[in-house]
Amino acid sequence: SDRETIMTDTKTIQQQDHAHYLHPFTDHQALGRKGARVMVRGEGIYLWDSEGNKILDGMSGLWCVAVGYGRTSISKAVYEQMETLPFYNSFFNTTNVPAVRLAARLSQLAPEGFNHVFFTGSGSEANDTNVRMVRRYWDLMGFKERHVIISRHNSYHGSTMAGASLGGMSGMHEQGGLPIPGIVHIGQPNYYDDGVGLTPDEFGLRAASWLEAKILEVGPDKVAAFIGEPVQGAGGVIIPPDSYWPEIRRICDKYGILLIADEVITGFGRLGRWFASEPYKPDLITFAKGVTSGYVPLGGVLVGSRVADVLIGQGGDFNHGFTYSGHPVACAAALENLRIIEDEGLVERVANDTGPYLKHAFGALADHALVGTAETCGFVAGLNLVKRKAENVHYQVRFDPALGVGMLCRAHMFNTGIIMRAVGDRMIIAPPLVMTHAQIDEMVALIRRALDLTL
Ligand code: PLP
Repeated sequence: SDRETIMTDTKTIQQQDHAHYLHPFTDHQALGRKGARVMVRGEGIYLWDSEGNKILDGMSGLWCVAVGYGRTSISKAVYEQMETLPFYNSFFNTTNVPAVRLAARLSQLAPEGFNHVFFTGSGSEANDTNVRMVRRYWDLMGFKERHVIISRHNSYHGSTMAGASLGGMSGMHEQGGLPIPGIVHIGQPNYYDDGVGLTPDEFGLRAASWLEAKILEVGPDKVAAFIGEPVQGAGGVIIPPDSYWPEIRRICDKYGILLIADEVITGFGRLGRWFASEPYKPDLITFAKGVTSGYVPLGGVLVGSRVADVLIGQGGDFNHGFTYSGHPVACAAALENLRIIEDEGLVERVANDTGPYLKHAFGALADHALVGTAETCGFVAGLNLVKRKAENVHYQVRFDPALGVGMLCRAHMFNTGIIMRAVGDRMIIAPPLVMTHAQIDEMVALIRRALDLTL
């Protein structure tokens, strides 16, 4: 069988991989020298590679496998839907049952006033949809000049032209002439970079004020929307002070600007709520990843009434959509995945039980000689790698990311049997929401061991 071939012949797979497979975000020459690790199986929070090594997946795949690997009820739902109706689109006055059920279910779970869903195949496509939808909204409102979208440095909103433009990753902008016109950026709310001399709440207000400054610079009558991740994920788990988001909402309201919460990582319980942005009332919510736990690709935009009323109420086509919008198999997977999250009380567990437990256990890593701060927010966490720790009071002298200590640490993690991600001088995790207390302890012990090896 294929699996046996993979198990017994890692080298051949690696050679074929190098010969034919262009990986995302990868230096192929470097990968060719060491060979990709071949993942063959997953169960719960663990993965196995082709050489039989067991690895604790501290990243839930790519922030997505919320309910863990090997959930047979999801495979069963997918199989049954494939047998019944593997595909039909919803373009030309048709619809399908799983897509309708999922749209209704998401409207129930979403914050008040979110009664409509636009489906896509990924988070990137969902953010492209946002760009087109907010511009369409302002056109319909009679403000055709309002097309500029403000985002933040070091944010991640996807890899399509619009997604990467909304994103604030300089390494992505450098390749391919991004950002596209009409997208501008402000600073991120990273207290440890820019908060010197301020309390976290003072800093949160200051970071939000950069939005107002940018609105005034661009011209309030030209700004369509502001987009942000409730907690920046790929940028290194940057947790904003509590004062930040309410102030952002206030500024958006002052100038009538739409607020888009990109909840691709934070949605479906990861921060201890179904949607982390609920308290500050966004107008649009991007989702993907956790909606299916990554078992099948699916993303979309939850559309609040302010935008939906205009899109629908003013009539006319919204000329936008994907072959796989509302894919019945993906929607069937999502329905079963959401059932699991609800029945197992994963959102409440992260809010009241495993989340606080992780905060305590992960926070204890701050005593390590290499660690400056170790913080969590629900089920995402990050630590700063620092040098000369003893000399520092509050602001740690950071390692220069170019020194590659994060990469070294990540290599030790991988060999120690845990997947953690390195972002410059930060090491980050986003564990599966099903993790138990004992598994959290196991994970933190593995992290500590890898940190010791990096010293
Ligand atoms: N938005 C956020 C916040 C993300 O973290 C990601 C992916 O990591 C995306 C959008 C893009 O999603 P996708 O990779 O499914 O296109």
